[in-house]
Amino acid sequence: MENAAGSEPSVWALAPDAVWDGERLLESCAVLVEGERIVGVCPAAGIPAGVAVTRLDGCTLLPGLIDCHVHLADWMLPGFLAAGVTTVRDTGNRLDWILERRARTAADPASGPRILCCGPVLDGEAVNWPSIGRRHLGTREVARSVEELAAAGVDAVKLYVNLTEDQITEAVRRAGGLGLAVIAHLGAVDAETAAAAGVGEIEHLSGCVHHVEGAGPPDPGRTSRWAAAFLESGVVLCPTLVVWDRLSRVNDAVFANDRRSRWVHPDIRAAWRRFPHRTSDTAERLARQARVVAMKETLGGLFESGCRIIAGSDTPWPGLAPGFSLHDELALLVDAGMPPRAALATATSSAADALGLGGVTGRIRAGLAADLLAVEGDPTSDITVLSEVRRVVRAGTFLDRRILEDASRAAFAEAPTDAVSQLIIEVADR
Ligand SMILES: [Zn+2]
Repeated sequence: MENAAGSEPSVWALAPDAVWDGERLLESCAVLVEGERIVGVCPAAGIPAGVAVTRLDGCTLLPGLIDCHVHLADWMLPGFLAAGVTTVRDTGNRLDWILERRARTAADPASGPRILCCGPVLDGEAVNWPSIGRRHLGTREVARSVEELAAAGVDAVKLYVNLTEDQITEAVRRAGGLGLAVIAHLGAVDAETAAAAGVGEIEHLSGCVHHVEGAGPPDPGRTSRWAAAFLESGVVLCPTLVVWDRLSRVNDAVFANDRRSRWVHPDIRAAWRRFPHRTSDTAERLARQARVVAMKETLGGLFESGCRIIAGSDTPWPGLAPGFSLHDELALLVDAGMPPRAALATATSSAADALGLGGVTGRIRAGLAADLLAVEGDPTSDITVLSEVRRVVRAGTFLDRRILEDASRAAFAEAPTDAVSQLIIEVADR
């Protein structure tokens, strides 16, 4: 809302058919906004006199969505906002670059989602992605990196696949002393060991499902043991089913034909078409697709056992359009056995709580940021309507879809030079 300089911001109201507040579906309610914040939720019939009302007929209003696992580049920012993703956590990038972007969207919320970041991924003696990863030979080196990243002001540290158990234990110890969250994409160490070492969050179901690759249907006994380990130590899971689904189907034209891919830089779409996962080896393709089905079954079991789950996409790996791929992740979580409301919580209230943003966003509640998403239909009964985005509010202001499209086209006019886009292109040309 625009205000004359010096005047108090005025209260205005959004009146959808229903409000999903991050936990409950509220019928016939309106949401009151003042400046950059939500100031209340009231019965639609009880909107105070004199308050300007924007009607959202046929729509459900939700908290702006949170993508807990992305690797950012500038060309993605308009797409995230267009999809109603108003907060992202970057889980591996160049430190100076991502800190600068975090500051930029904090100062100018209409330019992109709220950003949380980890800086580079902390890897072991071998480094999978040198442009966004850092090598560590022993435990002392890892502790020094954690201290340096904490001093730089990151929101969490991301441990990577080649770290040893000793290095993970030391990173957790040092991060704990500095009040920093630890998340991990595991490789050399299994999930039960990482949970016991105190890792707070595990990405991609790594360290569990990866260890039974090719072993056929998941063993329910093993899933129960993982669940017990995760519940005991309070581990949060960010499964990113959508990246495994897309990597198992890189050959499929369906993603190239998906209109939402117009939010992806053309150079990145071209790189996806050259990706090494694209293969004519039928056995390999079927095995990858079978693993996705096994992951869903495992995740369904972990959810039934009460494990905490949050949503992430791993944008920009192949087939993942910024923001819109998070809608697909929630649909995959529903396919894995989660009710739509539980899936919606993984990208709103549960995500905010896990990221330490419970007092900032993730719910429609007085005092929180007016980051909001209106979709046509009821996503609590049909999760697929999430992509029917009608309006997006960021920090109390409606975003203009055409301005976002223009910003995205402007970013596409030049070849991307950022570390993440370069990484995708390098993998394609390897
Ligand atoms: Zn990632």
